[in-house]
Amino acid sequence: MGSTVTKQEISDQLKTQRAFFATGATQSHAFRLSMLTFLRQAIEQHEEEIYDALKKDLNKSRLDTFTTEIGFVYGEISRMERTIRRMMTPRRIATPLLHFGSKSQLIHEPYGAVLVIAPWNYPFQLALSPVVGAIAAGNTITLKPSELTPNVSRVIASIFEKAFHSRFAVVVEGDSKVSEALLKEKFDYIFFTGSTRVGQIVLEAAAKHLTPVTLELGGKSPTIVHKDANLRLAAKRIAWGKWINAGQTCIAPDYLFVHESVREEFLGMLEEEAFKQYGNGVGVSSYVRIVNESHFDRLTSYLEDGEVLFGGKTEREALKIAPTVLTDVEAHSAVMQEEIFGPILPVLAYREIEEVIEFVNERDKPLALYLFTENEAIEKQVMRRISFGGGCVNDTIMHVAQHNLPFGGVGASGMGSYHGKYSFETFSHKKGIVKTTTSFDLPFRYMRSDANGKLMRYLLKG
Ligand code: NAD
Repeated sequence: MGSTVTKQEISDQLKTQRAFFATGATQSHAFRLSMLTFLRQAIEQHEEEIYDALKKDLNKSRLDTFTTEIGFVYGEISRMERTIRRMMTPRRIATPLLHFGSKSQLIHEPYGAVLVIAPWNYPFQLALSPVVGAIAAGNTITLKPSELTPNVSRVIASIFEKAFHSRFAVVVEGDSKVSEALLKEKFDYIFFTGSTRVGQIVLEAAAKHLTPVTLELGGKSPTIVHKDANLRLAAKRIAWGKWINAGQTCIAPDYLFVHESVREEFLGMLEEEAFKQYGNGVGVSSYVRIVNESHFDRLTSYLEDGEVLFGGKTEREALKIAPTVLTDVEAHSAVMQEEIFGPILPVLAYREIEEVIEFVNERDKPLALYLFTENEAIEKQVMRRISFGGGCVNDTIMHVAQHNLPFGGVGASGMGSYHGKYSFETFSHKKGIVKTTTSFDLPFRYMRSDANGKLMRYLLKG
């Protein structure tokens, strides 16, 4: 459905999906499996268009597009194909003595009509990974990709048209107005990826219908380099994680805390590693561009918030900003208050790890946190004392690619999680059933005597 879609069309479309869901057709293993196969085949048929669209929308290279977008989705599809049958089979659950004569079952039931709203920064992967989970769990799907990457949005719409009947899954293209119209409808589940600000709007809209949600939001992800870290490796892995996609990654290191005793040495290495991996950025043909002028202007204004240690080059016409490190930043400056979401990395120094813990804990809970240290006591301290979505020790970003782990935020960085089996769980209602025998009926639950009270006390205490 195109960006001129009307409220009535949205409403009618949802009715059609509801009617289809009510037939039970989406629930069989064969249906789920064939929808995943159709999706993979349609992606394969559109691969060239996907490369082309990401080049146009973000200047993304073929390699980056495969590794961070298409390959990721293929992986999610294959893992679901292998595991859906096991995940969807009702599970026998142990039954306590109190329920003598009963059996217990856990049934994963699809919610029904699911709405997925996606952002622009990994516009293919972040739209389709949740869709894979929603299909595997047996739901119908309405997907709204980001309007800021219109070429990718178009290809995703073509893929859906090729793979699915619209009574099962449909793409609704458009901007925030279209999103608002979708949110007025009563969906059975909403999966939103985007900013914390819009996440609040989504949650408010969902509350009106008591629709459950997953919110994959953003925030400022701290990166800590302790004095005993392997500095060369830390520099290499931080440079990679910060400047991939020109810093437009929800879990990119947002700001850096480096121990004062290794600050000079580490920042020298970071400059070398940034240059090795991304050159000066601006003139490099494969370097990702900033998505649009308004984000470019927002980002370049941060350059006033500190001293440029390296980088700082900008090119408005090409929408490119070089990998940049800022020092001498104040905690109250915009670059330290807002999510940066671009290739600028402010650096702070610290003496005691306690200062870092306090600083992070005074702010919203981050989506990710990265700690570089060889000291397990420091590692334990940071992991126990700071609440954040997920992260890495001695690495950046890689936790998102570990599909056996749940991915998601906490507090202002989001609620709920997904990837692999966690996606299946996210898009399923967990229905608990106790089936009681009719061959006999133990009398004690109906009895009001003291002796029975004692027995009940014993059984209920477990
Ligand atoms: P955004 O919140 O501006 O937009 C996300 C989606 O919401 C888009 O499809 C957009 O059309 C829609 N939208 C915008 N305004 C709306 C409104 N008023 N009502 C309803 N829908 C509306 O986010 P963005 O700029 O596309 O993406 C960047 C943000 O997303 C960053 O904060 C980033 O950290 C976050 N993000 C989070 C993850 C994650 O997995 N946690 C992944 C990628 C991006």
